[in-house]
Amino acid sequence: MGEPFDLPSDPIVDEIRAAAGRFELGQRYRDLDREPAFPWREFRALGEAGLVGLHTPTALGGRGLSVERTGIGLFHLGYLGGTAFAKLSLQPEFSSVLAEHGAAPLVDEWFRPMVRGERLVGNQITEPGAGADAQAMAMVATPSGESYLLNGEKSEAAFALDAGAAIVYARVPGPDPRREITAFLVPQDLPGISRTLTAGDLGERWMRRGTVRYENVSLPARYRLGAVGDGFRYVRSELTREHALLAAIYLGVARAAWDETVAYVGERKAFGRPLSAQEAVAFPLVADGAELQSAWLFTERALQRLDRGEEADSGAALAKWMATEVALRAIDHAIQFHGGRGYSKDLPHEQRWRDVRSGRIAHGPSEVMLHIAARRLWHRTPG
Ligand SMILES: Cc1cc2nc3c(=O)[nH]c(=O)nc-3n(C[C@H](O)[C@H](O)[C@H](O)COP(=O)(O)OP(=O)(O)OC[C@H]3O[C@@H](n4cnc5c(N)ncnc54)[C@H](O)[C@@H]3O)c2cc1C
Repeated sequence: MGEPFDLPSDPIVDEIRAAAGRFELGQRYRDLDREPAFPWREFRALGEAGLVGLHTPTALGGRGLSVERTGIGLFHLGYLGGTAFAKLSLQPEFSSVLAEHGAAPLVDEWFRPMVRGERLVGNQITEPGAGADAQAMAMVATPSGESYLLNGEKSEAAFALDAGAAIVYARVPGPDPRREITAFLVPQDLPGISRTLTAGDLGERWMRRGTVRYENVSLPARYRLGAVGDGFRYVRSELTREHALLAAIYLGVARAAWDETVAYVGERKAFGRPLSAQEAVAFPLVADGAELQSAWLFTERALQRLDRGEEADSGAALAKWMATEVALRAIDHAIQFHGGRGYSKDLPHEQRWRDVRSGRIAHGPSEVMLHIAARRLWHRTPG
């Protein structure tokens, strides 16, 4: 496309292009919307190709790329395979609490196989009464001899039926309610666990979200991840990286829609000339291209700050907020300028829009992203 619309580049991109062609990720992304199921075949194939866990340390079986290079890789996975395969690649990142705070046998049993694309670990934070305000969670883990007894309900959880285990956050009752939230790895086949699917999602249907109920579930203490009361601190530091990396995915998906639309309006004729000759078509597309690129540069800065170990929560949160806003606008224009077919499943744009739309809610709603930035701007301590 050329300056100022260059795509981000890195040697990993060649591998991603080759894998996307070999495993037909573009087509499989479309299939997943029609027949929602966890794509085990592609997960394993991407794992074997070394494309699951781009940022995961090599000692744990990952690629050990910097956060910035991981972001570039995810941008291109989003470009070629929609949100689905990029998020699969990112799956170990969503479980870094297990990798960093789990006992070695748990890491061997669950984390390493996930990087190979063989096992899936979910994350369960949200509850019916505690979503954006996750610290209001009520689920309890009561110490009972060498075990904990889990009671409560987790909702909105991705892979509710497909994950073999989940990182679950629950309160270990203590004198200070602010020091109760604790992380556990919970195999999902323990007695007392029941799982149901949500009625049907707008997008990202392959995630098969649902509700997981825990009734007197006995969990050996060795499944606790890290210290009692530190669960929320762990998840907070993981979330910062996630926000910036998710931004990269959404921008990659939107950029694919934009590229296809730029090409299409150059060819498609209406009123005796190409659509691109209409300023009402050309100008919004030029503006989208500039906005997508600005959001990428903003995201890249957050990724670089993370690599340097600098404070990045505000920049990463704003990157996710900005990326979803800009991406949804660009994809909406892609639907619009493809006309009637743009509104149909003939083309991938409507699916892309529905999938990226989750980014305004999942991993913290947009309002919470702005809240994180406002807190930093006025030097308020994390609440
Ligand atoms: C595709 C998808 C996958 C998900 N996967 C998982 C998963 O695997 N595990 C998991 O635990 N959860 C998951 N979630 C749940 C997600 O994290 C929550 O939906 C999200 O945190 C919001 O919580 P809530 O739904 O309870 O909304 P609420 O907390 O009730 O908030 C509703 C709305 O109110 C607004 N709002 C909330 N707080 C504020 C505020 N402080 N200021 C201004 N406005 C505010 C926002 O617009 C928000 O969307 C997923 C969600 C989606 C959509």
